[in-house]
Amino acid sequence: MLFKKKIHNCVIIGSGPAGYSAAIYAARSDMNPILFTGFQTGGQLTTTTSVENYLGFPEGVNGPDFMKNCKKQVERFNTKIMNESVNHVILSSKKGGIHRIFLSKTEKCIESRGLIVATGSRPKFLGIYKEKQFIGLGISFCATCDGFFHKEKNVAVIGGGDTALEEAIFLAKICKKVYLIVRKNNLKASKILQNRILKQNNINILFCSNVTEIIGDNFLEGIKIFNHKSKTSRTVLISGLFIAIGHVPNTEIFKNELDLDEKGYIIVQKGKTITSKPGVFAAGDVQDSVYRQAITSAGTGCMAALDLEKYLYVCVEE
Ligand code: FAD
Repeated sequence: MLFKKKIHNCVIIGSGPAGYSAAIYAARSDMNPILFTGFQTGGQLTTTTSVENYLGFPEGVNGPDFMKNCKKQVERFNTKIMNESVNHVILSSKKGGIHRIFLSKTEKCIESRGLIVATGSRPKFLGIYKEKQFIGLGISFCATCDGFFHKEKNVAVIGGGDTALEEAIFLAKICKKVYLIVRKNNLKASKILQNRILKQNNINILFCSNVTEIIGDNFLEGIKIFNHKSKTSRTVLISGLFIAIGHVPNTEIFKNELDLDEKGYIIVQKGKTITSKPGVFAAGDVQDSVYRQAITSAGTGCMAALDLEKYLYVCVEE
C-alpha cells in the first residue's frame, strides 16, 4: 500500500469491460483495487448473445460467457470484487485528497485517493412489448456489432439523429434494404449525413412513423409501423431492428461532483482519462458518446489504471 491503512489507492466503480480491464492493470501494479460491480455484473455485454468483433475470438463469443471469463481473469489478481452499487460520492478537489464513496445497501463509506469511474451507459428503449426479450434475437443497439448478421437481408433503423443515420449508412452497405423510421417529419441529423443518406438507393425513409408492434415468436421477423400523419399502419418483414434513439450515461451520482457534457457524459482530457477532479479517472462508455465498443472500453480501462498509477506516484513524491 502506498498510503495509510483503510484509505485505499484504487476504487473502481463498474464491472463492464472498462472496469475489469482497469482492475487487472491496477492489481498488477500493486494498487490493491476494490471493484463495485453495480446492478449489472459484467455490464451491457451480458445482454447480448454473440460478440464477433472483439479481438482474439475467431468464432465470436457469447456475451455473458465473455464477461464471466473477464471476471475470472480479474480474480486471478489481487482485486476485491464487491457485489454492491454506489449510491453517492463526495469527491475531493485537492491533489492527493480523499474521495468518499458511499454504498447503496449498507450506506458504508469507502475512502480512496484514487477512483476509476467505469459505470457505462444504457441504450434508450422504445418501451414496446418484446423489445427487451428480442435483444440479440434481431433487436440491436449497435450496427457495427450486429450488422453483419443481417448481410443481404432487410433491416430497419429507428431514429432521426446522427447515430441513426450513421447506423443506416453502415447497414446499407451490407444489407439489401434499410428502412429508416423517423418519428418526426424531418431529420435531426447533420446536413452532411442527410446528404449521404439521400445518395443511398436502398434506404427507405419513413417519416412521421412509430413502431407499434414487434412481430415474431422466438426471434424478430417483422414490425408494425404506424404513420401518425396518414393514420395508416403497415407491416414490414425484417431480420434486424436497430434502435438508435440515444444512450444515457450512468452518471447520475456524479452530477454535482464531476464536469459532464450536455448529454451527461463525463468530460476527460483529450487522449487521457483524467476528469475534472484530481485522482478521479473515467473509462469506457461513461466518457465516450462516440465509439461505445467493448474493445475501446477495455482500452480506456487500461489507460485509467495507468493514469491513476502515475497520479499516485506523483502524490507520494510531492
Ligand atoms: P458497461 O458494460 O455499461 O458496464 C457498466 C458497469 O457499471 C456495470 O457493471 C454496472 O453494473 C456498473 N454500474 C453502473 N452504475 C453503477 C453504480 N452506481 N455503482 C456500481 N456500479 C455501477 N460492443 C462491442 O464491442 N461488440 C458487441 O458485439 C456489442 N454488442 C452489444 C450488444 C448490446 C445489446 C449492447 C447493449 C451493447 C453492445 N456493445 C457491444 C457495446 C458494449 O457492450 C459497451 O460498449 C461496453 O459494455 C461498455 O463497457 P463499460 O465497461 O464502459 O460499461
